[in-house]
Amino acid sequence: MHNVYLAQFNITYGGDRQFTYVPYSVGTVWASASNSPEVRDHFRLAGVITEKQDPEVLAQSMINPAVFAVSVYVWNVTYTLEVCRVIKHQHPSCTIVVGGPSVPDACDQWLADHPWVDVVVQGEGETAFTQVMQDLAVKGHTAPVHRAPRMRDLTQVPSPYQQGVFDQWVQDLDVNTWSINAVLETNRGCPFGCTYCDWGSATLGKVACFDQSRIREDIEWMALNRVEWVQLADANFGAFRERDAWVADQLIAAKQKWGWPRLCNISWHKSQNDHMVEIADRLIASGMLKEYTASLQSQSTTVLAAIKRRNITDQQLDRIKQLGEQRGFAIHTELITPLPGETVDSITDTMETLTQRGIKFSLFPLQILVNAEMAQPHYREKHGLVTHTHTLAEPHAWTKEQEEHVIETNTMTRTEFEQVMLMAMVLQMYNNTGFTNVITRFLHRAHQVAYTEFMRLMMLWFESRPQSVVHQHLEPVWNHVERRTTSHCYVGLWNVPQYNALCTTQRDQFYAELQEFVHHTWPHCEHVADVFALQQHSQIHSRQPSTINLTLASNLWDYVINDQPWTHTPHEHIIQSPGMPAQFASLGHFRNFNKSTGRYRTNITCQPVQSHEINQIHHAISQ
Ligand code: SF4
Repeated sequence: MHNVYLAQFNITYGGDRQFTYVPYSVGTVWASASNSPEVRDHFRLAGVITEKQDPEVLAQSMINPAVFAVSVYVWNVTYTLEVCRVIKHQHPSCTIVVGGPSVPDACDQWLADHPWVDVVVQGEGETAFTQVMQDLAVKGHTAPVHRAPRMRDLTQVPSPYQQGVFDQWVQDLDVNTWSINAVLETNRGCPFGCTYCDWGSATLGKVACFDQSRIREDIEWMALNRVEWVQLADANFGAFRERDAWVADQLIAAKQKWGWPRLCNISWHKSQNDHMVEIADRLIASGMLKEYTASLQSQSTTVLAAIKRRNITDQQLDRIKQLGEQRGFAIHTELITPLPGETVDSITDTMETLTQRGIKFSLFPLQILVNAEMAQPHYREKHGLVTHTHTLAEPHAWTKEQEEHVIETNTMTRTEFEQVMLMAMVLQMYNNTGFTNVITRFLHRAHQVAYTEFMRLMMLWFESRPQSVVHQHLEPVWNHVERRTTSHCYVGLWNVPQYNALCTTQRDQFYAELQEFVHHTWPHCEHVADVFALQQHSQIHSRQPSTINLTLASNLWDYVINDQPWTHTPHEHIIQSPGMPAQFASLGHFRNFNKSTGRYRTNITCQPVQSHEINQIHHAISQ
């Protein structure tokens, strides 16, 4: 018997508990190959490896490896190829087999550049890898490139979970340290062909479905093996109305019966309907889903045509938001920039419109994937794509992964790209997190100040004030394209220490500086002191009392938040805060939990002060 090792190296992240991913891609190809009698008679699975470690040490730990099979993607390709090189050096007879989305479709030059790779697997990995292993079992050698066409029938594809491919891997994990993520594949394929995506182009066409009994058993395996997160691999969950509702119910039932899996991630269908909201509603009610994410990427029809993408309509988005509000769940959207055809005005309009409609968003830089249509020279040339290489920060020194980011197009300069990323960052950092939302809504309603204009002026104001809090926040991302710190713009979204500082040590200075900016920029604006008082008490923070009565000169809260007419008579604002529950390590951790679940809310009511009380008006701002 000859030893086969499988590897699919993780990105690991997290705090006290680390997240790890079940290596589904290499597991599923081995599950198929090992179903073949020839392969079973000659090879045994000797190890499944996911954790990055010193490549020399890893290679030394392997016992007579006959085959080392890996799957590569953007977060592990450089490291994985280095491991392959070292293994080939230490174990020259080992056959190195590489598959995954980061192997170029046209791979002759790539193979020449990586002479330690013996075989490349492309297309449907189960078929291609089985052929490789059968060749090695029967003939002792195989061709350097195996490409398999799409499978139309997935009912006979064995599940790696049911085949026990991951059983030892899970047993070796310390469940108290690791939080396990697993892929649930209920169908394969995508009818769309977005030009930046390597999945749509690889699977373009009719969607093939896995057997429902397989799905049920995979979920059961996940429950029994304490999988925390399920990543649904479907490109368009909800496209199959009854079937996908059934999948959601299976997940909910497993959580109710075993307590696992606890959460899931979903890529929803691009044509949302009420039945998808019904599914999301059930998942959210069970605690399996944190929020409804609509991947828009862009709202410009020019851009959508250039990237060959279809989106949900504005009306559908509003309908989801309305249903979400009725049922108490949050809506989140995702955008990418600079997509071909997008301009600084169109993406700014999108951010402005979403913010005005109360829909939160994340803006990600456009990354080129090697097998996407966007990577082709004619496409790059047509849209004037200029890119730079971005190196990922990793906590080890063996290799560094790199990503190719677009920084300029025919319709957006790199300076504009830089501004757009900063605009998204400050909107998310200050407005979406509740530090400026009352101020900006007031200025928008009372003085027609666009949210994006507020942020643009704010950045200008603080750029020349190096001691200010905002300047210090923005310092790492001024000139981020040139300094290659673009990733800080979106990593900042989850920056717990920064959030904690704004809630505690920086809080007074931040609001004093911001108030000075507002006074200076809109000198005729009245009620600024009231607006800032309301802003500071509307957010759960470290010094907030459980109840506070704030008497203001108008019905400010109802005017700003509830769109009621502005009444210029004294109103008492009663603010009741749930405070931060003890189980959270800090306000930042609490906020990350609460932003999507919305479970803990500050309750604010506003009522006119009775005439006999007017003489006693006072601003009970601090207690
Ligand atoms: S981005 Fe999503 S919808 Fe578009 S091709 Fe890729 S998988 Fe399909």
